Amino acid sequence: MARHSSIRSPLGKARRVVVKVGSALLVDARTGRLNRAWLETLVEDLLWLRGRDQQVILVSSGAIALGRRQLALSKGALRLEESQAAAAVGQIRLAHAYKELLESRGVTVAQVLLTLEDSERRRRYLNARATLETLLSLGALPVINENDTVATAEIRYGDNDRLAARVAQMAGADCLILLSDVDGLYSADPNKDPAARFIEEVHEITPEIAAMGGRSASEVGSGGMTTKLLAARIAVSAGAHMCIAAGQHRHPVRRIEQGARCTWFLPAATPGTARKQWIAGTLRPAGAVTIDRGALAALLNGRSLLPAGVTGTRGPFERGDTVSVLAPDGAEIARGITAYSDGDAARIMGRKSVEIESILGFRGRDELIHRDDLVLLKHATL
Ligand code: GLU
Repeated sequence: MARHSSIRSPLGKARRVVVKVGSALLVDARTGRLNRAWLETLVEDLLWLRGRDQQVILVSSGAIALGRRQLALSKGALRLEESQAAAAVGQIRLAHAYKELLESRGVTVAQVLLTLEDSERRRRYLNARATLETLLSLGALPVINENDTVATAEIRYGDNDRLAARVAQMAGADCLILLSDVDGLYSADPNKDPAARFIEEVHEITPEIAAMGGRSASEVGSGGMTTKLLAARIAVSAGAHMCIAAGQHRHPVRRIEQGARCTWFLPAATPGTARKQWIAGTLRPAGAVTIDRGALAALLNGRSLLPAGVTGTRGPFERGDTVSVLAPDGAEIARGITAYSDGDAARIMGRKSVEIESILGFRGRDELIHRDDLVLLKHATL
């Protein structure tokens, strides 16, 4: 199985690895119970990585799938409050299983529940990052899930693929493994199209790759290929390798290193600064500003966004929030941290920076978004 020898190494070389397991693997769809025998082999794999001095963070789904059985919630889609109730019941079972499996092998497990807000508000993000760092330095194995019971529809990640990518970014991991019920990325849905090609390596997430999304047929989890590609975007721009691999086999992580078929996404050649990565990875910009062609040309030349080039705002947003920057045709071409709220931005748009003080009554920054706080999205053109 030397076929993958050139690209198998990302896992072997990684210093810090995030492994994400989906609900469909953890929970038996028929019985609604934890696949314990399989889980033991996963845990052994994580310890095998640790035994090679690699730090490991596990992002585990499965709370809702486990809890719904316990609460006898009927099959089919759950209402938001039902899935939150199921998560409350399932999470404690999940955590218990990890505690038993890991502590019997001498490893301390730490439970960390995160919401989207925790990674979108910079202070919370930095705080969560410091906690993870401390746990790892103390030798604990963090097991992370979304804090499903408190997250409302607006602040949910909704899928653990993106949560895992955010965790990888937050922790500065060099490798993210998404274990799923599919073995990787195909050019088309292999269940429907016999000509579907398997993609072993992705160097750049082009629009063509992004279009390969489609939804997986998995019943238990909430993700699909689309969410995995969104995760890949976050992970690779943070400088991590990401792998999508089939997880249903025993020892699913070790298999990857032994050359099992999977798709590797290679990290961006020049990962941005941590601050820029964080801006680009914002899942829900607070609002948007639309700019004219002159401003678009300036941004493409690496300049800041001045109020003069703004033609519209969509709030509400506050100073310090991340907003989308939209080209005249409405396409999102950049993201950045705004120096003005939506109300103030609307008052100074189209005006010269020297006029800001007389319009607003205070002297703010000359730029609406400074170039240090601005990230152009790939494929932005005039
Ligand atoms: N956080 C959810 C759970 O633990 C799963 C989300 C997902 O399937 O990606 O049940």
